Amino acid sequence: MAEMFYDDDADLSVIQGRKVAVIGYGSQGHAHALNLRDSGVDVRVGLAEGSASRAKAEAEGLRVLSVADAVKEADVVVILTPDQVQRTVYAEQIKPNLKDGTTLVFGHGFNIRFDYITPESGSDVIMVAPKGPGHIVRREFVDGRGVPVLLAVEQDASGSAWDLVKSYGKAIGGLRAGGIKTTFPEETETDLFGEQAVLCGGMSQLVMYGFETLIEAGYQPEVAYFECLHELKLIVDLMIEGGIAKQRWSISDTAEYGDYVSGPRVISPEVKENMQQVLSDIRDGSFAQRFIDDQDAGAPEFKALREKGAKHPIEATGKELRKLMAWIKDTDSDYVEGSAA
Ligand code: NDP
Ligand code: MG
Ligand code: MG
Repeated sequence: MAEMFYDDDADLSVIQGRKVAVIGYGSQGHAHALNLRDSGVDVRVGLAEGSASRAKAEAEGLRVLSVADAVKEADVVVILTPDQVQRTVYAEQIKPNLKDGTTLVFGHGFNIRFDYITPESGSDVIMVAPKGPGHIVRREFVDGRGVPVLLAVEQDASGSAWDLVKSYGKAIGGLRAGGIKTTFPEETETDLFGEQAVLCGGMSQLVMYGFETLIEAGYQPEVAYFECLHELKLIVDLMIEGGIAKQRWSISDTAEYGDYVSGPRVISPEVKENMQQVLSDIRDGSFAQRFIDDQDAGAPEFKALREKGAKHPIEATGKELRKLMAWIKDTDSDYVEGSAA
């Protein structure tokens, strides 16, 4: 059984006694900075000159400094810029300004696991990785709940890194739901696998294939949208409450029988072999290399794929239908429909 931590296992005063610099104010950055602040932690935000995020952070009453100045003030530096820019931001703006013994916090182990960042031996290097999107990390915290977190220590120069990692996890609300003790390699490899094979890649492709199959057979796109996308949340809610078993308990016997006989036809054993190949590309570093090489070249492959995805007919159908469902609110004011950025 994994080692778990909850609020009672952590001492909030550890992180409350530190000066924290959150570098980046995007999905995770805004959630960490605001949750820490609301937990009584001394937070400043570090952003590049002319950053589009500056106004958002300042509107929340946060102090915004250059990355260099934020790092100079801090004894805990939280690196929450996109993974593909972390190594450059670290080399040029963080490392030259670190005080001795400053703790580095990551929200994902990518740059450490694949050796894009090699911290100084005197720094504690820890991870607090929420298992959910940043906007939900903030929303759940405000509502008195939390998103579960993975906690890890890569380097424990001080000998007390675990006290800080647990305290930080509590301050962002993660230990309300539970923190699991892990390692940088386990978090990085399972996170990349989960998002590629199941949560994002696998699920998006499954939904698109289902939608395409129905509209190509002449059914109305609106019906196909409800069937293959909208209902997914209702089914997943039951899975979260009571596992796959509860979902099967609630659906009709007809649906449950269809689940057993057709599920393995759609997601056949070759799919598992494909998943094993995806995992192997993650573990040997070739996925990381492909992503970083494309990013370094200005992201031509990434941008083309993003544009292709946005043009899929399911998006136009969904946009119209969602207008008619008043309870589906887009509460994230900085989200622009039709852009994944
Ligand atoms: P975002 O893409 O949302 O981060 C954007 C932020 O980083 C913006 O404030 C942006 O500023 C700033 N930024 C971009 N480039 C630079 C730079 N060169 N120097 C300084 N600031 C910069 O990132 P995420 O929140 O998605 O990811 C952050 C980390 O959290 C990653 O390690 C990721 O893997 C991890 N993570 C993310 C999750 C998520 O929910 N998204 C879930 C769990 C972990 P500007 O406005 O100026 O562009
Ligand atoms: Mg991820
Ligand atoms: Mg049905």
